Amino acid sequence: MIKRACTTLLLLLLIPLAVEAQTVSVRGVRVWTAPDSTRLVFDVSGPVEHTLFLLKDPARLVIDIKDARLADNLSGFDLHNSLIKDMRSAERNDHDLRVVLDLTKAVRPQSFLLRPNAEYGHRLVIDLFQPGADTVAKTESAPTGAAGKPRPIIIAIDAGHGGEDPGAIGPDGIKEKNVTLAIARKLDALVSRTPGMQAVMTRSGDYYVSLGRRVQIAREHHADLFIAIHADACPGDSRARGASVYTLSARGASSEQARLLANRENSSDIIGGVNLDDKSDLLASVLLNLSLTGTIAASNEVAQQVLAQLRHVGPLHLGRVEEAGFRVLKDPNVPSILVETAYITNRREEHELVNPQHQMKLARAIFRGAVAYLRQNPPPGTLLAMQRNRRQQLALQQNRRQRHVISRGETLSAIARQYQVSVKALRSTNDIRGDDLYVGEVLTIPSSSES
Ligand SMILES: [Zn+2]
Repeated sequence: MIKRACTTLLLLLLIPLAVEAQTVSVRGVRVWTAPDSTRLVFDVSGPVEHTLFLLKDPARLVIDIKDARLADNLSGFDLHNSLIKDMRSAERNDHDLRVVLDLTKAVRPQSFLLRPNAEYGHRLVIDLFQPGADTVAKTESAPTGAAGKPRPIIIAIDAGHGGEDPGAIGPDGIKEKNVTLAIARKLDALVSRTPGMQAVMTRSGDYYVSLGRRVQIAREHHADLFIAIHADACPGDSRARGASVYTLSARGASSEQARLLANRENSSDIIGGVNLDDKSDLLASVLLNLSLTGTIAASNEVAQQVLAQLRHVGPLHLGRVEEAGFRVLKDPNVPSILVETAYITNRREEHELVNPQHQMKLARAIFRGAVAYLRQNPPPGTLLAMQRNRRQQLALQQNRRQRHVISRGETLSAIARQYQVSVKALRSTNDIRGDDLYVGEVLTIPSSSES
């Protein structure tokens, strides 16, 4: 619409046509709050041109959207805990839209457009990052206990999807992103209350984290194990059911289904939204691809253990570990699995997935499987590794112990010399107090490490 009075007939004729043809309407806005960033998503009716600039004292971000107008008042968003205090808009130059964000602090903004997909139409995404937020985690050193103390085992828990990306949606409208977060939180609680273990959540709320960033978070925290939690979908077959556990394959998917699934989970970045100008994600995934084989065997072991536990909770989809090319599992150093807990497209399983008791059963099964793996393969320097070393040493000592039958004329010191152990160890192992030995008595010879 033109509000300025036009002076010539030509203008009157031309301007309305030109403006009407180009005007994009901004239909709504969503705000997603992450611990160290805030994402603002404008739903727009078509591609838009926009500029951003920051103002200081007080901190503000100005977003100018060219040839755009608000279809409705901006409302229905939640700024709680976000980096935005307030949001207001105004018309500018008659045909542009200006949105001003009052910020809680100085931010580093980033913006990009997202094309329509199955879930949404055109979107303008504004990401606000707390400066230095991502460098804090990077400088964090490897978790080492104080001298002689074991370090904790770190388990990275990755709740699939989030924010703009709902994941699969069940027949009764249950969104995968909410189910995965609920199960991840329960798993987090189980891990966190286990001595010698710590959990790291790649996301702790309803916001999107790029697939590359998920891997990065795990690496920054020196995770020993990476567990991605999802719910499966088969829109064409409402009877498809059961849990599956996937590992990464460098060769290719183990089945057509695994390939389709990997495609779907990998497209999460397209739906959830990552800035395609930011090549680091892509580069990281390519680099990581190069050195995977070492952890594939370990990942398969974890997967087997988790699958064995899930068998007690409900049906398994195929009953064997599947392999597929998931981007989120591509860390060369960390054994990683992806658990499809159940089929959200199966109405019965959809209802189970939102049931807290069932969520707990799933979390416990994943936890037990992970612990079974970690007991057998304890990461060096951890409590489990120390306990295992102690067990092995004891077993070794038991095996090493020999028996000696005392003959006439033998002395403790001579026997000690013969077996290269100390007299003291010989005495304590056999509870000998005086110097008298009896012919035919059987002595247990301690191993040399005991003396
Ligand atoms: Zn998923």
